[in-house]
Amino acid sequence: MMKPMASDWGTCLCVICLNPQMKFEKLVNLKCRYSIIKSILIEDVSDITALVADEIRTNDFKHDLARLKSEKFTITYSEWTKKKNEGSHMFISTKTTITSPISDFVDKFTTEIEDLEKHIDRVRQQFRAAKKAREVALEEENVATIQLDWSENYNLKQARQEKASYYYEQHISILSGYVWMKDGCYSFGSVSDDTNHMFEAAWTGLQPIFDKLKNNPSRITTIIFISDSPVSQFRNKTTFFFLKQYAVTNQTTMKWIYLEAGHGKGVADASGATIKRLMDQTVAFHPDESYRNAADLINEVKKKTNIKLFTYSREEIDSLKKNIPSLTAIKGTASLHEVTVKPDGALYGKDTSFGTERLLKLNF
Ligand SMILES: [Zn+2]
Repeated sequence: MMKPMASDWGTCLCVICLNPQMKFEKLVNLKCRYSIIKSILIEDVSDITALVADEIRTNDFKHDLARLKSEKFTITYSEWTKKKNEGSHMFISTKTTITSPISDFVDKFTTEIEDLEKHIDRVRQQFRAAKKAREVALEEENVATIQLDWSENYNLKQARQEKASYYYEQHISILSGYVWMKDGCYSFGSVSDDTNHMFEAAWTGLQPIFDKLKNNPSRITTIIFISDSPVSQFRNKTTFFFLKQYAVTNQTTMKWIYLEAGHGKGVADASGATIKRLMDQTVAFHPDESYRNAADLINEVKKKTNIKLFTYSREEIDSLKKNIPSLTAIKGTASLHEVTVKPDGALYGKDTSFGTERLLKLNF
């Protein structure tokens, strides 16, 4: 089996990948001190994520690892833990150092290897599904595939005002992405002064793309979305509501592929970074211009790029939001990695794109 290239996997700063790797490296560092550790390590393996792709070798390794449990020494190691940030509900990852009996270390490491096996399987399946979705859009004139993501908010700091005695900063939301179609592919960015990143905001930002799709010479019968999988943004009942509404109204199959958490950055992120750079340049090159809002700035940025840029307002989000009825959460939403809504409004879900499909019950 070929080892996947780093570029296929996205930047991995995810705790599920990092922790077992750090434990593995700790054992490698101790192999000269303890001959039993040396005896369980596999010569040609330095990367635990590469090992877990091979089920047989992984089981052998876990079996050998269990032999360490009867040893009496203690071990000091580091790991990433998620801690609640003081004064906010956000979780932040912090590196902690722990000293424990080797048997506890083995138990923890074994559990982490098992979690990593499932995680890497989902990473691979969702990457493969996303790749297939992009290819099918390039081959078939009735399919469009859209990869999207929220960029971190852009902070508009205006040069002139920075020099003044008061300091002025404004936050701008950027929903960026890429569209694949047989007739032509393009990068896009939807920009707003409203910093809400709930699904209704994303759907508002996508409206100009939908308008283009509806005007496409060949009728688009399938739209496939690819995104990261934060529940608060793209994977929730509001998403399913809007997908269903679009599917039924436009007689279109709507599919959403969720990349495994921690491995969802890609082309959408790159478009977002480009847009931010262009915004920075615009502000820097026009020091005497003052931009009142996102639309002002975007009008200037548009002159410098092929990226299709749109703006949307809080009023537009609110008017979409008004149409959302009271929705009941759908059981198992957090484990879904693909959903499909058929033109008849039926919603199907899968835990992984190559797993089994089930009909999901909606109350809307
Ligand atoms: Zn990971």
